[in-house]
Amino acid sequence: AVQLTVQDLVKTYGRKGFFGTGRVTHAVRGVSLELRRGATLGIVGESGSGKSTLARCLARLIPADGGSLRLDGLDLRTLSGREWRRESRRMQMVFQDPFGSLNPRRRVGDLVAQGLTVRGLSRSAALEKARELFGLVGLDPQAITRFPHEFSGGQRQRIGLARALALEPEILIADEPVSALDVSVQAQVLDLLESLRQRLHLSVLFITHDLRVAAQVADDLIVMKSGEVVETGPAAQILADP
Ligand code: ADP
Ligand code: ADP
Repeated sequence: AVQLTVQDLVKTYGRKGFFGTGRVTHAVRGVSLELRRGATLGIVGESGSGKSTLARCLARLIPADGGSLRLDGLDLRTLSGREWRRESRRMQMVFQDPFGSLNPRRRVGDLVAQGLTVRGLSRSAALEKARELFGLVGLDPQAITRFPHEFSGGQRQRIGLARALALEPEILIADEPVSALDVSVQAQVLDLLESLRQRLHLSVLFITHDLRVAAQVADDLIVMKSGEVVETGPAAQILADP
């Protein structure tokens, strides 16, 4: 069954002001896609093709200019702020740099627990959950008291997964999650993602510039170019294409 439906998503940066002087980038120009429950959909494209913009619109980290997004048929545009926050929690993001804009002087347990305390969980309950999540992603639960710089790239990505999973999402949007890692570490993180997908019954949107990585993890692929979908189909078929 289709879980997430995106229709004609449009996002333009630098919208012209009243005097019409700004530079405008049509980053996403009418993208439609369907993610089936339990599936992994790969979104591939070279740098600048609009993949991250699409991902951020989907996770609603930035507002889209046009188009619709439906979760199990429910149009998110029709919701009030509170309902929207409840529904949007069902999708969480994993980033290339898990601690990108987060405070490097905060303990990783707090970074994982943050989304939970924001939603009203006590700090001790949230930290207990963070310990559990560390175990789930193959890290020592006691390590929650450490700081981001004490972890390797692969471990940091595990923490990023724990942070995303804290809110018990149904859909993970992974934006270049292994692109900054050595190839051997990439395989470990991809294996972890795959086992979590199966155990937690997740659906995954996997975004990457690397067609081979995409074909390895995804059932179906969408190829983006200049903000548009230029090809879509089974991963094996697209990989075989000249
Ligand atoms: P990708 O993830 O495929 O590399 P992006 O979504 O990051 O593509 O970028 C798509 C286009 O939008 C590029 O031309 C990029 O320069 C532009 N862009 C991305 N983010 C911004 C931003 N915050 N402000 C203005 N332009 C942006
Ligand atoms: P605010 O406090 O301004 O209402 P929220 O925390 O509700 O902000 O939402 C933050 C972002 O989430 C907004 O910038 C917007 O992009 C998005 N958002 C909020 N409500 C909706 C909605 N009903 N439909 C779509 N997007 C929404």
